[in-house]
Amino acid sequence: LASRDFHPANTVIKLKGVEIGGEELTVMGGPCAVESPEQIDEIARLVKAAGGQVLRGGAFKPRTGPYSFQGVGVEGLKMMKEAGDKHGLLTITEVMTPEYVDICAEYADILQVGTRNMQNFDLLRKLGTIQTPVLLKRGFSATYDEFLNAAEYILAGGNPNVMLCERGIRTFETYTRNTLDLSAIPVLQSLSHLPVISDPSHGTGRRELVEPMAKASVAAGANGLIIEMHTDPDNSMTGDGVQSLFPDQFARLLQDFEKLAPLF
Ligand code: PEP
Ligand code: MN
Repeated sequence: LASRDFHPANTVIKLKGVEIGGEELTVMGGPCAVESPEQIDEIARLVKAAGGQVLRGGAFKPRTGPYSFQGVGVEGLKMMKEAGDKHGLLTITEVMTPEYVDICAEYADILQVGTRNMQNFDLLRKLGTIQTPVLLKRGFSATYDEFLNAAEYILAGGNPNVMLCERGIRTFETYTRNTLDLSAIPVLQSLSHLPVISDPSHGTGRRELVEPMAKASVAAGANGLIIEMHTDPDNSMTGDGVQSLFPDQFARLLQDFEKLAPLF
């Protein structure tokens, strides 16, 4: 079902006036984690002012270590919904277990499956039973075939609203946190009809690389971007402050996308 052979036309996901996978570039921005009502409200305001369409923020965080901050949980879902509604943005948040799918779908417009859960088949099957759009992140060691098979689980269950997200893979390089695989963008678009979103934040792990890799993703044909932005990255509650853009950088980048759009 994910294959272009089966479905030649691009899938366009329409959500409250936003079209993902159509002519327009979709920009999702926000913090790695929802921290407080004030934090997410202020960041939502800045995402909207910059021209973004979707507010990102994790309420449940898949941390590598069990003693790290794990997210504020259901309260965070409520904070995000309030900020999204107030500022006229769609929202996206990560769901990690099948049990939490329904509650996350109650509050968020788009559900994110993180890289560590790309092959959490019970989660994928559960996401197939609802119609809420899913942003499926590529496992950091997954091949394109494995990635598309993971998407297939959701589609096969009856949910056609899936977007693929390249977020960097693990290579021998240690300078960057991950290696953003730009080739994935045109390859996935040739193999599949699903929208392809690029995540240059996790794909590099370094703030100064987000802008060039975001622009490269647009040049490679990405349908959208998901970018971490924080008002106080040095004090963010996850380690992802180092890859988060400052609000002014985020706004400038979106202005540059406007200039790039006619070229690609
Ligand atoms: C995130 O989006 O904050 C995140 C944890 O992403 P990934 O699953 O790609 O590491
Ligand atoms: Mn993050």
